[in-house]
Amino acid sequence: MNTLKPIKIIENEVHNIKISNLYLFKGSNKGYIINSMNGIGMLISSEFYSEIENGAFSDELLSKMLSRGLIEISGHNDLTEDETEFKTSFFLIDMTKRCNMNCIYCLRNPYAENANISFEMMDKIVDKIIEYCHINNVDMIDIQPWGGETFLEKEKIFYIRKKLDQDAPDIKASISVETNGILLNDELAEQIKKYNIKVGVSIDGTGDIHDQQRRDLLNNPTFEKVVNGIECLHKHGINNIGTISVITSESISHIDDIIDFFISRLPYVSFKLNHMHSPGNRKMNYLAITDDKCEEMIDRIMNCILLYEKKGHIIKDGNVICGLNNLIYRKDNNICHSHGCMGGKKMIIFDQKGDIYPCELLDYPDIKLGNVNERSDIGTMIRNALDQNSFFLKKHDIKCSDCPWNYYCQGGCTSAVIYENGVNNGSISVDSCRINKALYERLVWLLTEKTELTLKIIQKEKEGVI
Ligand code: SF4
Ligand code: SF4
Repeated sequence: MNTLKPIKIIENEVHNIKISNLYLFKGSNKGYIINSMNGIGMLISSEFYSEIENGAFSDELLSKMLSRGLIEISGHNDLTEDETEFKTSFFLIDMTKRCNMNCIYCLRNPYAENANISFEMMDKIVDKIIEYCHINNVDMIDIQPWGGETFLEKEKIFYIRKKLDQDAPDIKASISVETNGILLNDELAEQIKKYNIKVGVSIDGTGDIHDQQRRDLLNNPTFEKVVNGIECLHKHGINNIGTISVITSESISHIDDIIDFFISRLPYVSFKLNHMHSPGNRKMNYLAITDDKCEEMIDRIMNCILLYEKKGHIIKDGNVICGLNNLIYRKDNNICHSHGCMGGKKMIIFDQKGDIYPCELLDYPDIKLGNVNERSDIGTMIRNALDQNSFFLKKHDIKCSDCPWNYYCQGGCTSAVIYENGVNNGSISVDSCRINKALYERLVWLLTEKTELTLKIIQKEKEGVI
């Protein structure tokens, strides 16, 4: 797959206009420019490309760049952002550590005892969320009950909806559940519909691949049950079904089969192919996607996008869509990929004891933000943690200062850094760095060379199909 290499625009000042941190990409008849400080990008004509390359900025170009936010008038519109500003709107609740499956890459204990959240704790957590929303004038939130297998605690999931409707009708809450799909049946599908729950199902692709990676507690295959579960949701008129597939070093060479499976068997789902990180569990490290496998994975996805376009299909991978939305609209809607790791700022997680953490992947005591039994509201807990809690230590490497993707990446996933180093020591995640570079370089190529296809992929999302 082709990529475009950027040219950095050396700092310049034209008519009092400050030009800095800009990266320019040249396609065959279009260009793309991005400001690495604020993530704002713009597709440009070849004429504008030449002007920028030659440092001969016309008034028309300067005015377009200024109104877009790519450049600033010296001393007026500072493009840097206040990093202490945050609005938490995504709340995960760890409902159970139990699971009815035993996937090979899972770090949870499916046999854990006393692992379910209590109704009493659910009340406290939802009250704490409502208190936060009212203090901070937040009226739209996402709540994600989480597990283990979350639907093992289905009555408590529905209870969240009932309690919110009763105690805080002024707050618009979207509730979504990630499930392994085993428990989905007609009765559950009807309840999911009744309580307006969004569902994401974990399925690793074709039967062979899925059953190698995701088996039940008795080591039975689960693929057919999961597919039946997804089809059951569809039959009951549940829209916006998402799926998540973990791509491992063993399944990477089958990405085209996996995509083919979704197109032919589950064409109505929006899928997301996530690479497996180094898990901090040495036994499983052989499954992680590392080194040049990162490029290989993105290339395989991109090649499928191009191949299927010829066959009349638009490939709807969630990570590609998120990246394109960043490059075109700078949508700040992804917790992990729109402005670096927003764990602990945009998102927090509550565990069964009411402890509050910045990310569901870590429960180390030294990164805890607080507990629901404390009198402080959530906003105060987070503000107090911002300069004391090592989770929030800014990550940086010398190469980030010269990287077009700095705004979106910010050194990558904090949990990955902690898995890689044992602590957030301010270094970048090597894993995130490789994936982000591989993805964005290829997405800029797609944007400049296949603009119509790119816009179709984005347009699909606007229509609510993705
Ligand atoms: S970690 Fe890598 S991709 Fe991320 S900003 Fe730094 S250099 Fe860029
Ligand atoms: S630590 Fe990683 S997974 Fe957690 S919120 Fe941050 S980027 Fe996302």
